[in-house]
Amino acid sequence: LQGAQLARSELEEGNKRTSNPINVIFVSSEVAPYSKTGGLGDVCGSLPIALAERGHRVMVVSPRYQNGTENDEFFKGAFDVQCRIQVGCFGGLHEVAFFHEYRAGVDWVFVDHPSYHRPGTPYGDTRGAFGDNQFRFTLLCHAACEAPLVVPLGGYTYGEQCLFVANDWHASLVPVLLAAKYRRHNVYTKSRCILAIHNLAHQGVEAGTTYQNLGLPSDWYGALEWVFPEWARLHALDKGEAVNHLKGAVVTADRILTVSQGYAWEITTKEGGWGLDELLRSRSAVINGITNGIDVEEWNPSTDKYIPSQYSVHDLSGKIECKAALQKELGLPVRPEVPLIGFIGRLDYQKGPDIIQASLPQLMEDDVQMVMLGSGYPDVEKWMQWAESKYPQKFRGWVGFSVPVAHRITAGCDILLMPSRFEPCGLNQLFAMTYGTVPVVHCTGGLRDTVETFNPVANGGKGAGTGWAFSPLSKEAMMGALWNAILTYRQHKPEWKGIMERGMSQDFSWERAALQYEQVFNWALIDPP
Ligand code: ADP
Repeated sequence: LQGAQLARSELEEGNKRTSNPINVIFVSSEVAPYSKTGGLGDVCGSLPIALAERGHRVMVVSPRYQNGTENDEFFKGAFDVQCRIQVGCFGGLHEVAFFHEYRAGVDWVFVDHPSYHRPGTPYGDTRGAFGDNQFRFTLLCHAACEAPLVVPLGGYTYGEQCLFVANDWHASLVPVLLAAKYRRHNVYTKSRCILAIHNLAHQGVEAGTTYQNLGLPSDWYGALEWVFPEWARLHALDKGEAVNHLKGAVVTADRILTVSQGYAWEITTKEGGWGLDELLRSRSAVINGITNGIDVEEWNPSTDKYIPSQYSVHDLSGKIECKAALQKELGLPVRPEVPLIGFIGRLDYQKGPDIIQASLPQLMEDDVQMVMLGSGYPDVEKWMQWAESKYPQKFRGWVGFSVPVAHRITAGCDILLMPSRFEPCGLNQLFAMTYGTVPVVHCTGGLRDTVETFNPVANGGKGAGTGWAFSPLSKEAMMGALWNAILTYRQHKPEWKGIMERGMSQDFSWERAALQYEQVFNWALIDPP
């Protein structure tokens, strides 16, 4: 990637500020710390700050959720800017308000509407996904397109010359609206839009008849036109006419970015393309992959406020204390010598909890401990609780979403297991390596890009590698990698320390990734396809 080369040379030259500031507008359904369910929230909470530090004017547009939990607290620093707009969609005019907080050099702009005020996550509750998500995120896209034109921030609006970054399907109508609505009226003619794909599995597919609700000109139907697969049709006469929001962005965005180079390639293959591979191949000239950074303020073992004892690559004694404290907190025997294996993540098909389920009886025969933190499929949640009672001395299943617990598991474990079926980037393996916890991962997407399998004889006998990446995704392959890791942990202490140190010494900061994003922004603005 040319961007990577540029990033390196800029970093070497020590250029902290750009000479070419851009007005950047991120549009996202979630943003940390205000609303986060996964990596998308992490990225949209950190990357904008890194770009603002480079001297860009950066706005992030996201819904102002009020779900009746402690998360609502985060929105308290954002104030109503007294700017209202009427959005024409779904058969009526819908009034939305804008709230604003200026923090860490970034304009955090929250779109306020009653449909964002309900218990649950940004996407659903215990009964499943909200039935009106298409409406909620269509509203977000319209409001985000208006925000730079109408919301006065620091005395003046961003104006018409912007670079939009539309994240995932929820923001995918942004490039469609720019092309179909605004540019027709000579607005935003010099603006460009990048589609950032964090997860291709979710595309925002709805019945074709809903197109008329989206507030788009009728002659643009083709941009979103899609066909439901046969199994999803209701009856024999159903032709499967559908709209696909993400497809709309794939065809109208100026450039496409994914969150790792491995995933940038995978989405153009039949296996990883989720039905969009052919279209994506036709756009491969404008697709790039940039590996996510991590928030090194939040995820730093030498300053982490959630863990009982801080440590660094120069002094690992704190990690031993974190392990003992975690074992105690979990009610597991406090034994420093036993390998402690962790898993953190959504309990769904993507993250492969079924592979762990299938392997657990065999794994539990060994002298190991395991802790899983996650929420998702009720069956897997129930299984975790069952496994806890079956292996009371060895296994803990923590059902729920807790950032502090995620930190303590990341610091206290020896091994982090990620048998993801696919992984656009994956953040937990990056956090793990930063904390000296050795990742054992399925060799896919961003996991393949970031975890190098341990090789004891490489590098003139000094050893190389930061973990284990196994393939194919099977119980046998995962257990093989895990046994190798456990054996190295038990019998080859200096080698194990080498793996930890190499992981901890890597640079996962957003500074590097922000420079690569900047390069892609410049390509989009200077060289529109
Ligand atoms: P994805 O976005 O597919 O869920 P990523 O690895 O990119 O996966 O990001 C997941 C993020 O969500 C990480 O910050 C991870 O620590 C966090 N996370 C996932 N599940 C939980 C949980 N149950 N409790 C706390 N944090 C979680």
